[in-house]
Amino acid sequence: MLSRVLTAVLALTVAGRATAQELRPDQVKFREVYRELVETNTSLSVGSCTIAAAKMGARLKAAGFADSDITYFSAPDHPKEGGVVAILHGSSKTAKPMLLLGHLDVVEAKRADWVRDPFVLNEENGVFYGRGTSDMKVIDATWVDMLARFKEQKFVPKRTIKLALTCGEETLEAFNGASWLATNKRDLIDAEFALNEGGGGRADKDGKVLTQGVQVGEKVVQQFRMETTNPGGHSSVPIKDNAIYQLAQALLKVRDYDFPLELNDTTRAFFAKAGAGRTDPTGLAMQAIAKDPGDKAAEAELNKDRGFHSMLRTTCVATLLDGGHAENALPQRAGANINCRMFPGDTMEGTKAKLEAAIADPGVKLIPLQPIRAKSMPAPMNPKVMGAFESVAAKYWPGVPVIPTMSTGASDALYLIPVGIPTYGVPGFWSGPEGSGAHGLNEHMAAKSVYTGRDYLTDVVKTLADAD
Ligand SMILES: [Zn+2]
Repeated sequence: MLSRVLTAVLALTVAGRATAQELRPDQVKFREVYRELVETNTSLSVGSCTIAAAKMGARLKAAGFADSDITYFSAPDHPKEGGVVAILHGSSKTAKPMLLLGHLDVVEAKRADWVRDPFVLNEENGVFYGRGTSDMKVIDATWVDMLARFKEQKFVPKRTIKLALTCGEETLEAFNGASWLATNKRDLIDAEFALNEGGGGRADKDGKVLTQGVQVGEKVVQQFRMETTNPGGHSSVPIKDNAIYQLAQALLKVRDYDFPLELNDTTRAFFAKAGAGRTDPTGLAMQAIAKDPGDKAAEAELNKDRGFHSMLRTTCVATLLDGGHAENALPQRAGANINCRMFPGDTMEGTKAKLEAAIADPGVKLIPLQPIRAKSMPAPMNPKVMGAFESVAAKYWPGVPVIPTMSTGASDALYLIPVGIPTYGVPGFWSGPEGSGAHGLNEHMAAKSVYTGRDYLTDVVKTLADAD
């Protein structure tokens, strides 16, 4: 009996080993980079991107990178929020460099709330768990490991490949390394285009990849303080002219106002490709709007989906409210925060003018809040980059569409696009219908997605590095 149990246990152990042994030697090395990154806490509160950057720099140096090709950076008042830039020189005198971008920082994770330690790379039943396994240490590890391998293999690309690992993407008020580089070290990261997070695949519950997305462009936040003022007075003798009522009426106008529909190359391609072949009302509307943005019936159908509604226009919504100064006084002042997400190409001034026209009350003030971005930049669809994503995807996932998407949120692409570095969120890694837990609990990614996505991106980078 005992021996039979032992045999079974041994068989299981051997099977377990066999799975591990299925990894190629290069995958074992990569897994170690991934593990080291996940296990280096880079949350803003207690972590350090500077330490993670030093570890990644050391790996590149060990692979043969010269010290002169590795640049560490940090702002003096943010010593724990540093990063690193590394350069693999290309052979061509004419081809412009390409940039691989990644943020090292992660969203906070509380051990007590997680099933496993968020800062340990746990692999269970073919799934990696840990903070950053998806957002975005899987990409960071892929970039670092890829450049190290290229160096060791003495692979000299045509085009110089640059890597920038930064900090501060996840926290709005944190020091942002990508912004800092774009402002202070533009030459160091100069590139024809950059590859970044924001894209990726969707799989069904059985792990079958259905679509792969490329993020091309994103919306930009602009906030306004909406305010009404009034002489006020004693609440025992009210009149209809009241700062709170006036603000409330203006807020309802904002609620009822839909900014005009807009399409750009990215969203037009998104609706055409994502809707292709579908016969349900939403799918048909997607195809129709891509052909004719003036199709009101299609627009009405798509507006039922809050994601599509937002992709099709600038949006503004009330998010905070204040008013009055005493319970027995007529309000002298009332205010609200209006959070707008501007469609690429829209301006603060244009957005403000449309809101004012919708409110139609000169007594309601709209005050633009910092940061004010004169214009949100649309990212061009570069056929060379899109072509590489598509041709390599056809090898890994035959028949799976590669769909351009425009994010309604924001990434570090926001800082690179305005300084002339079009930035694309890469396809490759995928998650299932349950998502990846990014920013939330028990963040995870299937090992198959990790290893396949890494191979895919290696081929994409090689293709682009050797393109003219
Ligand atoms: Zn991220």
